[in-house]
Amino acid sequence: MSDNVIIIRYGEVYLKGKNFSYFENILKDNIRAKLDGIDCSLYFGRGRYVVKEYDISDEDEIIRRLKQVFGLHSLSIAKRCGYDIDEIATKCVEMSPDNGTFRITTHRSYKKYPLDSMQMNRALGEKVIAAKQNLSVDLHSPDYNLQVDIRDGGDVYLYDNSISCAGGMPSGTGGHGLLLLSGGIDSPVAGYMLAKRGMRLTALHFHSYPYTSEAAKDKAITLAHKLKNYCPYLNMKCVSLTKIQETIHKNCKPNYMITLVRRFMMRIAERVAKSNDCGCIINGESLGQVASQTLESITVTNAVVSIPVFRPLIGMDKDEIIDIAQKIDTFNTSIEPFEDCCTVFLPDYPLIKPEIAKVEEQESRIENYNELIDDALSAMEIVELNY
Ligand code: ATP
Ligand code: MG
Repeated sequence: MSDNVIIIRYGEVYLKGKNFSYFENILKDNIRAKLDGIDCSLYFGRGRYVVKEYDISDEDEIIRRLKQVFGLHSLSIAKRCGYDIDEIATKCVEMSPDNGTFRITTHRSYKKYPLDSMQMNRALGEKVIAAKQNLSVDLHSPDYNLQVDIRDGGDVYLYDNSISCAGGMPSGTGGHGLLLLSGGIDSPVAGYMLAKRGMRLTALHFHSYPYTSEAAKDKAITLAHKLKNYCPYLNMKCVSLTKIQETIHKNCKPNYMITLVRRFMMRIAERVAKSNDCGCIINGESLGQVASQTLESITVTNAVVSIPVFRPLIGMDKDEIIDIAQKIDTFNTSIEPFEDCCTVFLPDYPLIKPEIAKVEEQESRIENYNELIDDALSAMEIVELNY
């Protein structure tokens, strides 16, 4: 065990007023679950949490995992010592560089400590200068700023770094949504964005086996696993659209294919949402990206559902979406070349501006459409995801 500790700061949760403890308890549970299997102790103080007593070889892994916990603002790797001023000063000397400019910034949450923050800054600063002739004090823009945190309970933490975390709200505090997860770049990012606001997700993937391969489904499952790093409560379900697509292909005009498939997807999604207590559907649509994402197309697909549909990427450019996909490590999987069910029976000229009356007329050619939906749902698969 080393004398290193990791200081954790939470983000927006602190604005929660009377509901603070509800949000905080979920955040604490999520941190505990995330660090499960790593030998360490967790201390939950007011305003700050601390990971202590871990093996130094686990430090990078602890940080990697904590950066995936929504609700956390930043981390600092710190050295721990006791209240003895000589011990603190020795650590300050060890940590400070040999030349350039520096300052000490003391925070004293333990108010009974005999020296106040200003006195500590001065006393520690003098010891550092005495030990390092080429180092001088600059209070305004120092090259090096050493923070000294005097905490209740006998601990002092010294740190000079801050690592940004994922931000957002703790997973499980923002309702439950059904994410339409394809194998593409956009939908994992859409899920990430709502998960960031605390939403618990269930992922629904559509495939058209055997027109789409097992590998295409596996790709979506891999994406769900990557998303689960951020969404501890993620579940996944898969539904086959094969029969529905064959029926549309046989009965309707080719250029209505995508519009009609998407309306079926939405109807199925609403049924799955309702039976799994999801209050909304989430998809990765971005305005104008493809024919099915014009305002007119979105209007006709949205018309078949009565629960909210969230499209967190609607105003984003592809390169902005890709930046997030890279950050959350889904991009390389998303660009693997496997077919999506939307590409089965793809027409040469999909409708860009579908009209609802004409779409309904095409749909009326499918007599057994409720039966098709029931059959697809009764064959729904549940995918086990590891965390
Ligand atoms: P993505 O990169 O997410 O696949 P896309 O640009 O390929 O998006 P579309 O194929 O039109 O766009 O799909 C729009 C949205 O519809 C997707 O972001 C996703 O939410 C949903 N969707 C598409 N295909 C599937 C599928 N096979 N299973 C579940 N949802 C899907
Ligand atoms: Mg897609």
